[in-house]
Amino acid sequence: MSAPSLFPQHIIARKRDGHRLTRAEIDAFVRGAVDQSWADYQLSALLMAIFLRGMTPEETAELTDAMMRSGTVADLSDIPGIKVDKHSTGGVGDKVSLLLAPLVAACGVPVPMISGRGLGHSGGTLDKLEAIPGFRTDLSLARYHDLVRDLGCALIGQTRDLAPADRVLYSLRDVTATVECIPLICSSILSKKLAEGIDALVLDVKFGRGAFMKTRDDARRLAEALVRVGRAGGKQVRALLTAMDVPLGRAVGNSVEVAEAIAGLRGQGPADLMEVTLRLGEHMLVLGGVADDLTVARTKLEAAIADGSALARFRAIVAAQGGDPGTVDDPSRLPQARFQEALSAPRAGVVVDVDAMEVALAALRLGAGRARASDAVDPAVGISALVQPGERVRAGDALCIVHANDAIALREAKERLLAAITLGDTAPAPQPLVADVLVA
Ligand code: URA
Repeated sequence: MSAPSLFPQHIIARKRDGHRLTRAEIDAFVRGAVDQSWADYQLSALLMAIFLRGMTPEETAELTDAMMRSGTVADLSDIPGIKVDKHSTGGVGDKVSLLLAPLVAACGVPVPMISGRGLGHSGGTLDKLEAIPGFRTDLSLARYHDLVRDLGCALIGQTRDLAPADRVLYSLRDVTATVECIPLICSSILSKKLAEGIDALVLDVKFGRGAFMKTRDDARRLAEALVRVGRAGGKQVRALLTAMDVPLGRAVGNSVEVAEAIAGLRGQGPADLMEVTLRLGEHMLVLGGVADDLTVARTKLEAAIADGSALARFRAIVAAQGGDPGTVDDPSRLPQARFQEALSAPRAGVVVDVDAMEVALAALRLGAGRARASDAVDPAVGISALVQPGERVRAGDALCIVHANDAIALREAKERLLAAITLGDTAPAPQPLVADVLVA
């Protein structure tokens, strides 16, 4: 039998007709994306065929592997310890990585973390870190390796040679209505994460109004696929399904989220932020082999906060990556906005709801996020001291503080925030933050 054709049109036709692609066909597609031997319309046609026809778990694992190998795969194997990272599918006020990476590193598990920027309603770890004056995230993979070796942690951005196929394919998906496809999401997320040189990964798959996945069922399907494909790639992977209907913590923005993360490392963070951080950290410590079970892990994490070692580790990482370590002791050194105004409660009552998506859009209006990938973010603006469901307020009390550099944006953001916060007479039933845990 002759070998199947690897012409783009034949591969597209096979997926269009519902066949499983071979590894050679998947490799040809990924190579074609990187060396541009496939035209954008051919790549897009295959993406749409995958969107409509799906992929088997084996195909998804092969696509992930091919995308991971499309660029450099970091080699951290000479560094002792099981290297564990965490990935979040993104939410509003999600500054967990900023606390979690130094916290887990302080407990003895190396955390190599390569993060992304915010887009649309969702913030990005890199934008938050860059609010720290001088902090550099554009480090080489050699420097990344040395930081993981010397400090047990590095917090950097994606380099050009890490999973380059994803950059090409993701930008096409964005404009061809092919983002919401589990095999494509899985291969996109995992190709980047597995190229970091990790041994294990803990995923925070969020669901709700402020999340990429709106329903718990969809989040579960994505989490199951991520765990399965990660395992096929030889990594230990666990996933937590966490609620994202209301913002996580009380701060949304960049400087304000860094300040809240530092408070968390001092043991003074909001309960919901600490709970998600500690639950993810428990699994990272178990996977990293420094705790036999989740209870032991919890004790170690709490001790690293109480004895200051997690905060000290964050200070050391900030200094090593060029940032001003003084901000860790004095967060007022972070960029401050010109206007810092309270939003007053129009009536007395109990906070029934805080709509995460509306809060994110208010932060976007202030300039804390970016509508397009090319937009700049303003590190100083955002929302802090935001009320949470179940809290009682008197008329005139602050529902939050709005940090703005523009008077019109300030007024519009305040209007949006007022509509985002529902006051009533009866406290809502508390919702569990962690809805499920998937262990491979
Ligand atoms: N995040 C990614 O990195 N890729 C996707 O496809 C979706 C979310």
